[in-house]
Amino acid sequence: MKRKPIIAGNWKMYKTVSEALAFAQELKRAVDGIKEVEVVVCPPFTALYQVSEALRGTGIGVGAQDVYWVDEGAFTGEVSPKMLKDAGCSYVIIGHSERRQFFGEIDDNVNRKVKAVLESGLTPIMCVGERIEERESGITEKVIRTQTEAGLAGLAADQVAGMVIAYEPVWAIGTGKTASDADAQQVIGFIRGLVSDLFGADVAAKVRIQYGGSVKPQNAAGLMAQQDIDGALVGGASLDVPNFSGIVKAAA
Ligand code: PGA
Repeated sequence: MKRKPIIAGNWKMYKTVSEALAFAQELKRAVDGIKEVEVVVCPPFTALYQVSEALRGTGIGVGAQDVYWVDEGAFTGEVSPKMLKDAGCSYVIIGHSERRQFFGEIDDNVNRKVKAVLESGLTPIMCVGERIEERESGITEKVIRTQTEAGLAGLAADQVAGMVIAYEPVWAIGTGKTASDADAQQVIGFIRGLVSDLFGADVAAKVRIQYGGSVKPQNAAGLMAQQDIDGALVGGASLDVPNFSGIVKAAA
């Protein structure tokens, strides 16, 4: 069974509402007619509703960059899965390394978020990835195993089959140092093997696993040609339409 590649743009803390809307209009034209790749943009919270409205009916999905795990309550500053759904989202990035590094995100909370998002009918894009010192000391697989097992703990097989995992080596994010095609494939194949051990071969054959970290139009085709790589989570190159749509076309 062929998995449909998914290219998601993680805008991080960039773009005002008007900038986001201009991007949405331009993106609609640029990827019009591309059916073989799923395209998702993840604006900051402040632009989610308007971007969702602008992209309604186009097939381009909208995702948030984080979430809290209860639907409502006295949690100042947080945004719930129910609110994201109401704003038009269908995806949520969870456990991005910037959340882990700067905002104290831990595996246990990643797991709570993944569960809450799945329960509200949204699709998590759960990020895992090793830091440079971990790669250099040869513990990449150990780190990836810990993050993946913790993030997926307690989930049902069909929930895992429908979600997205993003392998993002921390040393490749925003640095211009993309993982080689072979290195990215090696770790993503390892993650698929872990999913197979935990949830069975059928689930492993269905779950989509993206690569993220300095993906550009120039390196996307090589990465996307790897057998276990099902798309990309794109930061810097997702901020302008020529680069982002170039990556979408490379995956098509
Ligand atoms: P980058 O970011 O493409 O700018 O390296 C990827 C990400 O953080 O998801």
